[in-house]
Amino acid sequence: MTEFKRDGSHLASCPPVEKWDDWVEYDAAAWPRRVEKHYQLVPTICFNCESACGLLAYVDKETGQVAKFEGNPKHPASRGRLCAKGPATITQIHDPDRILYPMKRSGPRGGGKWTRTSWDEVLQTFGARIRKAFQENRGEEVMYHVGRPGHDLIMDRTLQAWGIDGHNSHTNVCSSSARLGYLLWHHADRPSPDHANARFILLLSAHLESGHYFNPHAQRIIEGKMAGAKLAVMDPRLSNTASMADYWMPSYPGTEAAVLLAMAMVILDENRFDATFVKTWTNWEELEVDGFAAKGQSFEALIEALKRHYAKFTPEFAEKESGVKAEVIVKIAREIATAGSRFASHLWRGSASGNLGGWQTARALMLLHVLTGSVGTPGGHNLNAWNKFVPQPYKNPPPQKRWNELLYPPEWPLCTHEMSPLLPHFLKEGRGRIEAYFTRVFNPVWTYPDGFSWIEMLRDEERVGLHAALTPTWSETAWFADYVLPMGFSSERHDLMSQESYAGKWIGFRQPVLRVLQERAGKKFDYTYQANPGEVWEEDEFWINLSWAIDPDGSMGIRQWFESPYRPGQKLTVDEYYGWIFENSVPGLPEAAAKEGLKPLEYMRKYGAYEVTTDVYRQNEKPVTPADLSGSKVEANGVVTKDGKAVGVMVDGEAVVGYNTPSRKLELFSKTMADWKWPEFTLPEYCRSHIHRSAQAASMEMSAEDFDSHFDKRYMPLVEWPKDAHGEVCTLLPIFRLPHLIHTRSGNSKFLYEIAHKNPLWVNPGDAEKLGNIRTGNLLKVHTEIGFFVLHAWVTEGLAPGVVACSHHMGRWRLNKEDQIERMSSAWVDLQEVGKGQWKMRQTSGVEPYETSDPDTQRVWWSDAGVHQNLTFPVHPDPITGMHCWHQMVRVERASADDRYGDIFVDTNLSFAVYQRWKALTRPAPGPGGLRRPLWIPRVVRPEEAAFYMKKG
Ligand code: SF4
Repeated sequence: MTEFKRDGSHLASCPPVEKWDDWVEYDAAAWPRRVEKHYQLVPTICFNCESACGLLAYVDKETGQVAKFEGNPKHPASRGRLCAKGPATITQIHDPDRILYPMKRSGPRGGGKWTRTSWDEVLQTFGARIRKAFQENRGEEVMYHVGRPGHDLIMDRTLQAWGIDGHNSHTNVCSSSARLGYLLWHHADRPSPDHANARFILLLSAHLESGHYFNPHAQRIIEGKMAGAKLAVMDPRLSNTASMADYWMPSYPGTEAAVLLAMAMVILDENRFDATFVKTWTNWEELEVDGFAAKGQSFEALIEALKRHYAKFTPEFAEKESGVKAEVIVKIAREIATAGSRFASHLWRGSASGNLGGWQTARALMLLHVLTGSVGTPGGHNLNAWNKFVPQPYKNPPPQKRWNELLYPPEWPLCTHEMSPLLPHFLKEGRGRIEAYFTRVFNPVWTYPDGFSWIEMLRDEERVGLHAALTPTWSETAWFADYVLPMGFSSERHDLMSQESYAGKWIGFRQPVLRVLQERAGKKFDYTYQANPGEVWEEDEFWINLSWAIDPDGSMGIRQWFESPYRPGQKLTVDEYYGWIFENSVPGLPEAAAKEGLKPLEYMRKYGAYEVTTDVYRQNEKPVTPADLSGSKVEANGVVTKDGKAVGVMVDGEAVVGYNTPSRKLELFSKTMADWKWPEFTLPEYCRSHIHRSAQAASMEMSAEDFDSHFDKRYMPLVEWPKDAHGEVCTLLPIFRLPHLIHTRSGNSKFLYEIAHKNPLWVNPGDAEKLGNIRTGNLLKVHTEIGFFVLHAWVTEGLAPGVVACSHHMGRWRLNKEDQIERMSSAWVDLQEVGKGQWKMRQTSGVEPYETSDPDTQRVWWSDAGVHQNLTFPVHPDPITGMHCWHQMVRVERASADDRYGDIFVDTNLSFAVYQRWKALTRPAPGPGGLRRPLWIPRVVRPEEAAFYMKKG
């Protein structure tokens, strides 16, 4: 068996660094002749998902062009390995349809007419509009909205330098829900499981296949398995991940927390929990539940109170809810207990992001870690904040004084991220307008629910004054922009990246390969677009230059943040920005570079990544620093404070840093939930989701007693179908992703689209029979609350009954037959607004071969582009996290003679009504003291503290 080495040296085909300047391979195209090709290898970072794996660009010395991408063995997280999307970068950079120059619309918005413009014109236009908005105190009207960030720090810094609260993200359609579950426990909002050293791994995400930090995690899960770890997967769908597991638990969606709490009860009942850990590291003494108050009581009394509270979660109850067999639940609970501190798990989207109350799945999962003492341990659950490293630049602007209610409205005081899926509805309600809107690697018309409401917003020049789409590829959203600004792919830009990929901290440096190589040869560039194809730029330089355009003479106080740390008053360059960080802000890097006679920036340009430390376990046990200890005091609850801020907690007579929660412990009991009007959720709980089977009235198999004891209408905005509705009611799972597609950026990756280009509706054979003997390939019509879509069936046993599923990666469409769009992945459609808010889409043609400079476009053999289901989904904001709850009740029936494959109909009047219904479930701010949201909960691009108060309490 091959021995894994951290430096990737076990990979026989990975070129050693000393040969990177002249790597020789035979030219495959010349076979059978042996013709040598000479390459120069330059490291960069993949941009095709958030994992930030290390790429090596192979630059052909003869042509000066990148010939292929492979893995960088010097990258500590990916260790030379990539998924299919990494090497596919080559198809993106050589795509003949890519956007090469800044474009400006030349007709009405959405009309599809564009003319080439210059970067200077773009900077002057946006600089003037934004400057005017700032001078008129309209800072809230400038918004940056990001899909895939692909960088750390620089954008937050830019927005704070502008003094605005203008950062919007896609997180509420992605991962907000799990984040709240985790942060209520330990402030950090993500897990960093140590899969490689685990003895038991439980996944509620499709990690081996496509999940969060996919490739770096997947290889470590397999490493763990090779060392003897068992793997369990809870997923209604037989994913590739589930197929690799020792146990597959096909749970009914939304019931996962019930299963996890039943496992916790097994561990409690069998007295197999780590009492010392629970007693030492949770805030158990603060717990109040069911009339029991732990304060002044013994730890044993607490355990008995917990057993009473969770008594209803028997394995049998969990089986009835979820469909997972009671004996399997007991067996896995025992395996978890046996693994003890070496129990690792992951949950990110799936259950959490599909369901109303999905955040409780993360909270319940963490309870298993707390009971087994597997927090901060080798092989256990670690905190993302412990394994991610974000260095600081030479100076940072102060936090903004503003609070933008278009981003963080009062109804959702506990949302972890911006309420971005609701932006069109907020504007419709008259909550504000946008003067300058930057969408960046972001395609809400296609990726978000309710895309037609986005089109209605984007085409309205009153609501959105000026819109620039910063994107490497054409998209449905860019179509409705005023400017389309081409930004680089992985090998065409600078970014600093770090992720919590394993038990260690690292940074990776994305760099523009052609610029770096030419600069090595002595050529000088002012800007990266001068070295990239066409005038493809990079965001770092764009934001620096736009900041100068907003404040050309420095009188607004903005320009100062974008001046060189080395040349006072001169414009900052990317070399200076990153050079300073690498010299001053990355421990150990200057020394590592000096050993090779390099400057830190040269080291990062040579290797592309650097491992900062592997000392990451049990950070909570670190002593409070002498500086923080000096002048501190110990509060009655053991929290150590200095100047009114918590800096640690007393444990066994020693002041240690603990966790960044109010109690500085893991919060089994969340007073925050009680303080913010949700007292029923102070402990990890299970609440039935909006798609619970009891909501499927027609197919409900529960007794009246079951129904009454667990069904709480407060949390269940039931779907109201029209009286004449027909078809079979099912739960739709619309959020699984195919491992080789890149959300909205696969469109020009010919290899990836050749691998898969359909998204049929998965139907269990039992349901297929109920629907009238449906067979694979039959045409089905799926009705949502606001419209319908038509697609083919795929009958499969790889899905729980009562559930249908459809991948969200397909269904790209274009309004133009030939221009400014990616043709190999999209259907050409006819889109009509047949009434106010009533939208009808029909495919005119599917994918067809076409002529370009790339002969492969003539060889396109597939015709199916898939069906765009998300357009037909209303928004479902969870009343607590604000997360869009993707799963939904649908009615499925055979398509009629009038229906055609790909047909879509939506009524946005209905989608606005659904939004109002879900909004009514919220319990708005203010909270204690007039706060907009708890001060201790993180906020993206955090304003100054005064801005957190709606009114002083
Ligand atoms: S997992 Fe794949 S797509 Fe994601 S960064 Fe790594 S190689 Fe790129």
